[in-house]
Amino acid sequence: MSRLLAAFLLLIPLAGLQAGEVENLRLWAAPDHARLVFDMASPVEADVFGLDNPRRLVIDLEDTRLAADVAGVDLSGSAISRIRTGVRDGDGLRVVLELEREVAPRHFTLEPNDQYGHRLVVDLEYPGESAVEDPIDPIEAMLREQEIVANRARAEAGGTTVEPEPSVALQQAQPHPKRDIIVAIDAGHGGEDPGAIGPSGTREKDVVMEIARRLQRLVDGTEGFRAVMIRDGDYYIGLRQRTRIAREQKADFFVSIHADAFNSPRPNGSSVYALSQRGATSETAQWLAASENRADLIGGVDGSLSLKDKDEVLRGVLLDLTMTATLNDSLSIGGQVLDRLGGVNRLHKSRVEQAGFVVLKSPDIPSLLIETGFISNPDEERRLLDTSHQQGLARAIFTGIEEHFRHNPPPASLLAWQRDNDRRTDGNEYRIQPGDTLSEIAARHGVPVAQLKQANELNGDVIRVGQVLRIPRS
Ligand SMILES: [Zn+2]
Repeated sequence: MSRLLAAFLLLIPLAGLQAGEVENLRLWAAPDHARLVFDMASPVEADVFGLDNPRRLVIDLEDTRLAADVAGVDLSGSAISRIRTGVRDGDGLRVVLELEREVAPRHFTLEPNDQYGHRLVVDLEYPGESAVEDPIDPIEAMLREQEIVANRARAEAGGTTVEPEPSVALQQAQPHPKRDIIVAIDAGHGGEDPGAIGPSGTREKDVVMEIARRLQRLVDGTEGFRAVMIRDGDYYIGLRQRTRIAREQKADFFVSIHADAFNSPRPNGSSVYALSQRGATSETAQWLAASENRADLIGGVDGSLSLKDKDEVLRGVLLDLTMTATLNDSLSIGGQVLDRLGGVNRLHKSRVEQAGFVVLKSPDIPSLLIETGFISNPDEERRLLDTSHQQGLARAIFTGIEEHFRHNPPPASLLAWQRDNDRRTDGNEYRIQPGDTLSEIAARHGVPVAQLKQANELNGDVIRVGQVLRIPRS
């Protein structure tokens, strides 16, 4: 009897603890959204709604007390200008965000993980920022780019003359664009997602950012290359969005940097991943299905660009070809990077591995995911924190990428121009000078234009200053 009474007495104070408590408030500010995270003592339900004049977002939490320092939250770089709080209906909490711009709010709860307990997440997406707009299927975008180029060429050719073929040979040499090769660097995880956590508390998102920044400096410090950071701070970006940003930035190559964990402390060493063929194949079906679902978007943009009536089989074949070519490049670059990594770290696997990572699924951008090491291995965790090891990893990654592009430079790149310039010009070759035209060069060497074009595999008619032509014997 007395034991039962004691149990009842114990239950009374417990009932008082049932009320929720906001223990901490954290903000992650990204260019296209802000993420506000409420660390809660227990699961919570929230009511989130917007108000105008002035623009505000209201977050109501039932039966919740505030134990966090709201004034201490750094709001810089976000759309939130001020956070106010108040008591609502006696025991509820009302949090009001004063906003500087229109936002699209979204909220959800997260279960406890290694690092955090119960959380309420409120995402404020910024409408109109490119990254949050409805994505265009990459094949659609590729076809559009081709059509735009073709239309431009047609317009240029049509505007100048009555007889298209000779006028084309008269087209003056264009300056070489000498563009940079763009390397998209994706530091894995970020913001609310710490990635893997090492035995002494090292967070994957932090060490991969260190390595990514070092890689960025190496890329930007090399003539003919330019780096684009997929995330440029401590915030999370969705996986699909990471490849979308790379595509918007016209990346020639995409590299995702990680340092993951295994459920035992033993595994160690670096590995390099490309997309698996099986992944690529199922992705084909996935893109096609998605493009069907977006038919309204595609059809509505511009009648002349509509792909609605294009043969779906052709689209499928095109996507397969593109993905296969891209995958071959990925595997070739991966091999170079793996060789170099072998010089600075033990290799976990001696071949480029293949798996269906979502971040590797760009159909036309060669992509690699690099596991720099196992953060779950205590020795490797220590090494990943060592700045000279970080630099060694970054240099190995860059050297592998650089080797590939020196041997296979994209035609319009500075590297391609330099390679052509380095070729010795003997009697059978001619380097194009400013003002040259194909017909003039052909006449000077006593060769028909058609033969000159054929010998140099010129399908188009654009020639570039510095380009070296082979002069066939007539
Ligand atoms: Zn990771």
